[in-house]
Amino acid sequence: MFNPSDSVAKFGRVAPPQLAALKRLGVNTMEDLLRHVPTRYVDAGKATVADMADLGERVTLYGRIEKLETKKSFQSKIPMGEAVMRDSSGRIKLVWFNQPYMAKMVAAGDSVSVSGVLQMRGNTRTMNNPEMEKIASLPDTSDGMSASLFGETLDPSARFYPVYPESRGITSSWIYHKAKRLLAEGMHEHLVDPIPEEVLSKYNLPHLSSALVWLHTPREMKHAEAARKRFAFEEIFMIQLERWKARLEYEASPSWRIVPEKAKLAKFTKNFGFPLTGAQEDAVKTILDDFAAARPMLRLLEGDVGSGKTAVAASTAYSTIATRPPGQDFGTLQVAYMCPTEILATQHFESFIKYFVGTGIQIALMTGSGCRKFPSKVNPDGWTDISRNQLLKWVANGEIAIVIGTHALISKTVEFEHLAYVIIDEQHRFGTGQRAKLLQKDGRIPHLLSMTATPIPRTLALTLYGDLDLTLLDVMPSGRKPIITKIADKNKRDEVYAHVKEELAAGRQAYVICPRINEPDPDKEQTVAMRSVKEEAERLRTTVFKGKRIDILHSKMKPAEKDEVMMRFYAHEIDILVATSVVEVGVNVPNATVILIEGSERFGLAQLHQLRGRVIRGNHQAYCYLFAESQTEKTKERLKAMVTAKNGFELSELDLELRGAGELAGTKQWGISDIGMEAIRNIKMVEAARKEAQLILAGDHGLDGYPLLRNILEERKKHHHE
Ligand code: ADP
Ligand code: MG
Repeated sequence: MFNPSDSVAKFGRVAPPQLAALKRLGVNTMEDLLRHVPTRYVDAGKATVADMADLGERVTLYGRIEKLETKKSFQSKIPMGEAVMRDSSGRIKLVWFNQPYMAKMVAAGDSVSVSGVLQMRGNTRTMNNPEMEKIASLPDTSDGMSASLFGETLDPSARFYPVYPESRGITSSWIYHKAKRLLAEGMHEHLVDPIPEEVLSKYNLPHLSSALVWLHTPREMKHAEAARKRFAFEEIFMIQLERWKARLEYEASPSWRIVPEKAKLAKFTKNFGFPLTGAQEDAVKTILDDFAAARPMLRLLEGDVGSGKTAVAASTAYSTIATRPPGQDFGTLQVAYMCPTEILATQHFESFIKYFVGTGIQIALMTGSGCRKFPSKVNPDGWTDISRNQLLKWVANGEIAIVIGTHALISKTVEFEHLAYVIIDEQHRFGTGQRAKLLQKDGRIPHLLSMTATPIPRTLALTLYGDLDLTLLDVMPSGRKPIITKIADKNKRDEVYAHVKEELAAGRQAYVICPRINEPDPDKEQTVAMRSVKEEAERLRTTVFKGKRIDILHSKMKPAEKDEVMMRFYAHEIDILVATSVVEVGVNVPNATVILIEGSERFGLAQLHQLRGRVIRGNHQAYCYLFAESQTEKTKERLKAMVTAKNGFELSELDLELRGAGELAGTKQWGISDIGMEAIRNIKMVEAARKEAQLILAGDHGLDGYPLLRNILEERKKHHHE
């Protein structure tokens, strides 16, 4: 008998690569294994044998792979993969054109299911470009014949076989058999259900123990679905509890009550040189209303690239500084503005100088490469370099009101006199651990505004940012030329390049985005067909764009290297930047007017939208060309949305609808599992999880009545800090 907390190594004969693979899947303990959720189920009841399958019809067959090879077709030199699959009735041939990697996704001896149209080629039954999936074990297709044929013991009562997420080194079948073993031991009956009974019954969710049985060995699909729903709910519920608890903790400290003078602000915003959009005005008003309460604001401002978040930040920062809190006779309150990169910090510093000129408000820039202060004594319209020590001194005594910089701003070494407002730009999550550092010596905590251009669906925002109030900037400033997006035909490559050349000749710059960094990783055969950054840069440099200055940017580069390349692109020392999607968040290079995206079907729509946002900053007409390697209807339909959708939020909702939550950009860093992401498609479930979490915490901030929940949250917290 095993304990739920035992390591999976205790199963015995678990090889190190297997253990490593399990770890990658997040399976460390026996309980983790029991809670490991299948990707899908194979319906063995529908299995036919190759012998009896109708030719010309779409069928699903089960069998074992016997032979595999990749080669180039004799005439057309198209790369292809071939395999022979054997089932109880005989052999069929599988052929993949242009997708040789398919043959590398399995090994001889693997059990698979294949779906496709069966045809006769010569004397051989053949399936062209079938979909294929590795499965745990083969369904019984001929009264037990296949079982003996494959020397495998099949569970005669099982009809739906789980398929678990793949990881190199561990098979789905291994996981299936171990899960069944734990269930046979009755481990599931000893686990305490963390979801309170009243919540389970309110939403008709199965208990943990039945849900675990249904998860791995369902007799009916509706049971498997009920189990999945339960685990999806559980995950979102835990996140909601965690986020809401963090919010209550943040709100437990007092903040500054700021009641700004409206007339002063109206005068200040004249500096912008443009009227605020309605959406910007509403956002400013909402934030100022938050300021007027004594409790700290926790708010997320979500708006497409170019929607004008900086003006909202500047207006509210101004209000903070230009207001003396009632009853306080010291100088001004202070604002910290944090950016993910030095370049962004520098750009914001420059924008702020334009906005704050003439106000007498002192602004500093603090980055690893140096510090600056505005205004300079000699030049009231400009800035001057200052030493870090000097800056720290002026921040500590409150003379400098606004400090703009990277995350280093919240390090221990930077002490503020009266930090009242923290603005965070383009950061996916500013964790609660980091937030705790904002607590000031006097026990107060600043108001917090997080800003993001990452368009995510509402359900996801409600979950990820469950501790924040949400404000959308969903209107673009008027008068800007909308970007022209074109789905580029493969055969019209030359025309597209000709246009890029024209733009370069006019003194503009271009981005070329590729889905991959390097030559395809042999472990990830799917990448074979993808254009990679390095190869593509080399190709463009030596052929189409000879003589142009071309450089590369990708995620494997060190932050300093990336910054350096971006700086040179910004300074127009580079004409064409060939990059992966790392340029997504970041820098404003107004002189770049064209973006060419290769393999665009590989990106989520919201991600494509963000990428094209890189070229809509300037006054010049901007263009986005989308190349796709796949020409399926689905690809075409998705990409068409890039031309028609109004904003990034619409695209992110479409992503969710068309491809599922797993396709949303940045999924990994969000720390939500695939099953949790299923819940993200269901607004009712997300709202229910949120409501129940808030209800529980409203009556019991410390979760004293829910020790199990409290433990789980503490474990999660430790995990986040690892
Ligand atoms: P983002 O939301 O991506 O941070 P920015 O704040 O950088 O957007 O604004 C993008 C550009 O739009 C800037 O050049 C800014 O000056 C301009 N802008 C912002 N608000 C308005 C407005 N209401 N009308 C006209 N232009 C605006
Ligand atoms: Mg911005």
